[in-house]
Amino acid sequence: MPAASRPLVAGNWKMNGMRHAGAELLAMVEGYDSALAARVDLLVCPPATLLAQFAATAAETGIAIGAQDCHSATAGAFTGDLSAEMLADAGASHVIVGHSERRTLHQESDALVKAKVEAAWRAGLVAIVCVGESEAERRSGAALEVVAAQIRGSVPQGARGDRLIVAYEPIWAIGTGLVPTVADVEDMHGTIRRVLGEVSGEAAAMRLLYGGSVKPENCDALLSARDVDGALVGGASLKAADFLAIANIY
Ligand code: PGA
Repeated sequence: MPAASRPLVAGNWKMNGMRHAGAELLAMVEGYDSALAARVDLLVCPPATLLAQFAATAAETGIAIGAQDCHSATAGAFTGDLSAEMLADAGASHVIVGHSERRTLHQESDALVKAKVEAAWRAGLVAIVCVGESEAERRSGAALEVVAAQIRGSVPQGARGDRLIVAYEPIWAIGTGLVPTVADVEDMHGTIRRVLGEVSGEAAAMRLLYGGSVKPENCDALLSARDVDGALVGGASLKAADFLAIANIY
């Protein structure tokens, strides 16, 4: 049940997709008809190699294209990295930052994630900040506290609903088929919105996405939960039929 203005269903393709995957995007464009577009926003975040191609395909369709990470600097001697400005130049309007795979595999701290959000804003991109607890943290009863600390550490002052989206993605639910209960999602999203209110006056207008094993079969309950304004979908966003089925619950 979205609290914010319009729900958003976002696809995180991770390190998947060759150029021929443009056919899936075309199928998404086809399925995103005016009736669906009237109800929900769609965003696809392919790997950076496909950004420009996808942005060209999606231009004028209403489907937004985003990136999966950015560097905090504008340009310079950072081999292998991409600045937010480059992503915007390639046609991205959004960028995911602080995904748990980056926090874990690339040792990204809250402070670095915050710097990346600022970089995204500098380049005119909407930042999607990911937060979420580990299985051990959930078991020990620390989930709410852990995520509240991630929000306080990763979200800069000045956050506004038109440039910040938060995705709650419990690490133990990503790619596992496990999902939290609706009550736990509601508890967490309520906490996130309250803590966002401490760093911004606009928390009510911010979109809070749920992510972690969202599939056509389970999305109804998860996305109907209070304070859930959409989904960040990994595996099920690679196929147009699944991704559109999720968007069509709205
Ligand atoms: P999943 O991934 O839907 O494949 O669990 C979600 C994510 O990591 O964004």
